[in-house]
Amino acid sequence: MNLFEEIREAVKGLYSLAVGMGVTGRYFVKPEVTVHYPRKTVDNIQTYSGHVELLQGKKNPLESDCIMCGTCERNCPSGCLTVKYEEIVEENPEPEKKKKKTKKMTGLIYDYSYCSLCGQCIENCPVDALGFSNHVYWAEFDRCNITLDLLARLREKLSKSS
Ligand code: SF4
Ligand code: SF4
Repeated sequence: MNLFEEIREAVKGLYSLAVGMGVTGRYFVKPEVTVHYPRKTVDNIQTYSGHVELLQGKKNPLESDCIMCGTCERNCPSGCLTVKYEEIVEENPEPEKKKKKTKKMTGLIYDYSYCSLCGQCIENCPVDALGFSNHVYWAEFDRCNITLDLLARLREKLSKSS
């Protein structure tokens, strides 16, 4: 390499360094868009689509609007959801009339370890009782721990907020 080529390489190197430092400098003075997790967390992540969640009811905000139809369970391609309920048979005072049967929801079991977040359960729920959570900081070491009872989770949330 002759002297002219060496000077040209040195100038190229300095130019590249200046461009890099320019980018670093620009980001250095811009407001931060990230946080140093786990020392800091972001509290309100409305655009984040986390695991499936049973939503607060629109008619009764102290309960879910779920009608236990099982559509979410049948539409889930990964078999993540199980709707649990018990049948309550009410005695009818008029013996010739049929006994009245009602259903009481006892749980909505959700196995997050198989969920692909495809949204089929949410789109097909006839009463819009499901949504994606913004539960961003949930992590476990063991996949056995990522099964949730969505009904129990909703009730716990509602009891904390009341
Ligand atoms: S988002 Fe998709 S995979 Fe996950 S529970 Fe709903 S239907 Fe199943
Ligand atoms: S589809 Fe909706 S209403 Fe039906 S069981 Fe699932 S959450 Fe409940």
